[in-house]
Formats: sequence, structure tokens, C-alpha cells
Amino acid sequence: MDGESTRFEAHDRAIRYCTFCPKLCRHACPVAHAEARETVTPQAKQALAGLVRDGRAPLDAEAVDVFHRCTGCGLHATACELDVEVAPALFDARAAGVDAGVVHPALADLEAEVRRPVGGPPLETSTGWFPGCSASDELSAAGLRAALKIDPATSSADVGCCGYPLLAAGRPEAFAAQAQAMSAALGGAEALLTGDPICAWTMRVAWPQRAGVAAPNVRHLAEVAGAAPAAADLPAALAYHDPCHLSRKLGVTEAPRRLVESATGAPPLELPWSAQGGWCSGGGGLLPRTAPTTAAAIADELLGQARGVGAEAVVTACPRCHRQLSDAAAEAGDMRVVDLAELL
Ligand code: SF4
Repeated sequence: MDGESTRFEAHDRAIRYCTFCPKLCRHACPVAHAEARETVTPQAKQALAGLVRDGRAPLDAEAVDVFHRCTGCGLHATACELDVEVAPALFDARAAGVDAGVVHPALADLEAEVRRPVGGPPLETSTGWFPGCSASDELSAAGLRAALKIDPATSSADVGCCGYPLLAAGRPEAFAAQAQAMSAALGGAEALLTGDPICAWTMRVAWPQRAGVAAPNVRHLAEVAGAAPAAADLPAALAYHDPCHLSRKLGVTEAPRRLVESATGAPPLELPWSAQGGWCSGGGGLLPRTAPTTAAAIADELLGQARGVGAEAVVTACPRCHRQLSDAAAEAGDMRVVDLAELL
């Protein structure tokens, strides 16, 4: 690329290790599995980032497209002996593309789409409900009832977006500005509950790391809900899918299983890739926008895993996963998909 980009500076170790790695994690990359091509393995994506950084490959639309072939799920890292995670470098490689004016065409209007904090005084409540942008109105209402025991019609929790789409789109400065504005808007809340693990991870981990904003006291519903009422209308053959940001990134794997068990009276079926090694739904990293066919194939693979253990329904704990899996299940017509918030 022309000129020096500082976007890659923090990722030298990761790029170097991956460049010379014999692709030890390729089997654990849902994108590489779905597309079945070498270009999108974690190793190849990182090697391309290194070539672009060193000016030995152009930072063009083709390269930016490759950098976007990552959900940020981190599953590959469970197979990496060197403790490397590729998403941070790839998200910053996307930023180098934005700097150079090479923006993924599906994300051209992204900054204008992100919900800014509403004006007015900070949210004043002991416990705020943060629905996230991905939750449907029904799931938002379910989460509100579960988290706050209040009628959603009386809530005014629509304070904006945590900023994750900006980070994943390679706009870290806009992300930092969003985090700072959101932190100010949420400043009056002692605690926040959300049903979206990516929002929880973004506020707890990415706000301090990438925006210099103190992490608010934000918890996912699964971390605070003690039990779920009995749910009589669920199939007995029910599997639990671990959302990547809830399980791998926040370490929450047992609480949602206990909630499913309290609702159904039996532990959920275990998928072959589960707990901290759970398969991605395809919903992260903006992949449903930048590579929707790949994202759908990843969700199909996950449903196939559920069929393989005899499941007739899948419970997940993330509205993005819920949407990805619901869309895939609607095509096949043989699997019910439930969000954990609906059980509470
Ligand atoms: S993440 Fe680890 S296993 Fe995967 S390519 Fe990089 S160094 Fe190799």
C-alpha cells in the first residue's frame, strides 16, 4: 500500500505468527469451513494483512473483501497453541481500507445508520435494560419483562447503539466517539442488563480497550436470571447453542444451560462444538451484510450439528444468533429456534 499505515502496528506478533503457521486452526474457522477456500483461512487472511502492510499486495476492494470474511467469533483461537486471535488485526485491516477510501460496498452508509444516544439527561434508573439493535421488538419486550419485571411500554431504554458495528466496520475513531457518548447517556444507571452478548462484550471489554471508557456494570440476562418458569410447549429434544461472545469472550456457559434445564426439566442436548468451543451462527463481524451467503452457510452448518444430535429445537442466548438460525431454519422448516429471553 502507498504510505505507512499505523493500523497494523499493534498486530505485528499476530500477523507474523500466522504468516508462518501451517494453518493449524483452519478446521476451526466457520468462514473457511463454509467457503472451502484457502484465501479465507485465518492464516491466509493474516498473511494478506502482512503483505498489505508491507506494500507487497494492494489494498484494493479484493483485499478489503477478504478482511471482511471474519465473524470475529474467535473459535479458531481454541485451536491455536500460540494464543493468537485474528479478529483484532482483521478489523484494523478494515480500518486501513477505510483510511485508503476502500470501503466495503455493503457498509458505505454504516456510520449514518448507527443509532446515536438520544439527547437529554443521562438514563436515571438503578437497573437499565439495553436491548441492543439486533433484538426484535418481541425479544426486547421478553428481555424487559425478565430483567426488570416491568411493562416494556413504560420503559425508555432506547438510548442508542453500543458501537460494535463501527468497530467491526473498521471505524475505530467513530467507535470511540460512540462509546464516549453512550457512556455519558448511560451514566445514571447503576447496572445494565442486556440480552445481546455482543453488546455486553463491547461495553465490558471493547469500551475500555479501544475507547478509553470505563466499563459499565453490564450483565447478560443469563448471568442474573436465577431460574426460568416451566415451558410446556418446547420439544424435549432441545439443544443449547453457545453464542461466541457469551461463551468464549465472557466465559458464560453454565448459567444458560441451568436456565434451559429449569424451563424444560432436563439438561439441553450438547452440540459437538459447544461451550467455549461452540460453533458460530454467522451473525458477527457484520458478515450477514458483507457476505450473506457465507453467513447463511455457517448457520446451516450449526443447524446440521443440531440435527446430528437429534435436536428438534435450538435455544440460543443472542438475538443475532436467533435471527441467523431462524432464517436458516425457515428454509429447512424442521427446527424451532428459541431465544433464551423468551423462556424467562
Ligand atoms: S491463529 Fe494460531 S493456529 Fe491460526 S493461523 Fe494464526 S498462529 Fe496459526
